[in-house]
Amino acid sequence: MVDYDFDYIKDKFISYCKMNTRSYETNNDVPTSPGQVALLKELEQELKRLGLTEISYSDKDAYVVGKIPANISNPSAPIGFVAHVDTADFNAENIRPQIHENYDGKDIELGHGYTLSSAEFPSLKKVIGHTLITASGDTLLGADDKAGIAGLLGMTKYLQENTSIDHGDIWIAFGPDEEIGKGAARFDVSRFPVEFAYTLDNGDPGDIAYETFNAASAKVKFRGTVVHPGEAYGLMVNAALLANEFISGLPKDFVPEKSKDYQGYILVLKNNGNVDHAEVDLIIRDFDTDHFLAMKELVTNLVKQLNEKYGDRVELEMHDQYRSPGDLIKKNPYIVNLVHHAYEKMGLSIHHIPFRGGTDGDFISEKGIPTPNLFNGGANFHGRYEYATVENMILLAQTLTTIVTEHVKLDQNRDETPLKR
Ligand SMILES: [Zn+2]
Repeated sequence: MVDYDFDYIKDKFISYCKMNTRSYETNNDVPTSPGQVALLKELEQELKRLGLTEISYSDKDAYVVGKIPANISNPSAPIGFVAHVDTADFNAENIRPQIHENYDGKDIELGHGYTLSSAEFPSLKKVIGHTLITASGDTLLGADDKAGIAGLLGMTKYLQENTSIDHGDIWIAFGPDEEIGKGAARFDVSRFPVEFAYTLDNGDPGDIAYETFNAASAKVKFRGTVVHPGEAYGLMVNAALLANEFISGLPKDFVPEKSKDYQGYILVLKNNGNVDHAEVDLIIRDFDTDHFLAMKELVTNLVKQLNEKYGDRVELEMHDQYRSPGDLIKKNPYIVNLVHHAYEKMGLSIHHIPFRGGTDGDFISEKGIPTPNLFNGGANFHGRYEYATVENMILLAQTLTTIVTEHVKLDQNRDETPLKR
């Protein structure tokens, strides 16, 4: 057996971190920055070097996909893994990764006056002795999600070098624009023929997240009637007050500042108005699909009541942003239970994470491929304190290999045991 390639995973991670792949909300190109194309093309070449088949890149969705073909005659159902190439909304120019071999658990001077402090970030204690990689104070590192990419390539190289390990078809996908919630919505999954998949995006070893927010946004416009206040009796309709009446009809305690774990909220983002017109923007977030729909209905009914009372002065535009894959995945407990088996085998304690946001998996699940999120081996995502360790990226590679090999054993007799929690 050839072991996981430490230097390969380290070198790939560092070279990908150096590439500026920041995504831009305001840009409508596909993908939203040329740096992402450069990395995606580089990954396309890497999949070729690793001997994958059916590799393709599409300009339409900017996804690279490739297949590690099954090496057994009665293969398990095709399984997929997904990581994203873009980085968050933070300086990504001239990223200079710093390598701290055999990390001693002490504070690290990143540069530019910033310290990665072990008191402030206690998770650093878990990586003492590791080869720790940080940025240098003025940029993010890009561990989100280049640690996911490097771990996935680590698994791929390991399986390609150890052909005695049985596996079914494994599909790999690298995509753009996750941080701005646009990439996976465009993904043409006809190029990714799997039964289910996992994203490897953030999280800690042992995490699994398949319940996310359901999300909608709404804009409510109020039309008033302006007349001279001295002669306003029975005539004036004040749009600003209509907006206030609307807001006071929203549930008082269903707000972000009183919401945690599996609780949702309605957030009034903007409340702008005068006598003539007013506008309220809000978002709705909820894990529970029924309650999410009830909250949308509550907003619709409030508008209806105001229109009945004041005569069609309120307009509502509401649209769904993303949906939690929770309901779909609960109907397919095998997808979660397989991860439980693999984590147990790896000695990882399992944490079910309610993910208080959206993921690429939300969009991919909506296209019919149930896709929970696992983890990627990094920490402190989205800023200058990001870090990853080569050991944790190898742990990711080992975990993915374990999922694939357990899948071969378990797939033929999918147990009907209920969803493990
Ligand atoms: Zn990410």
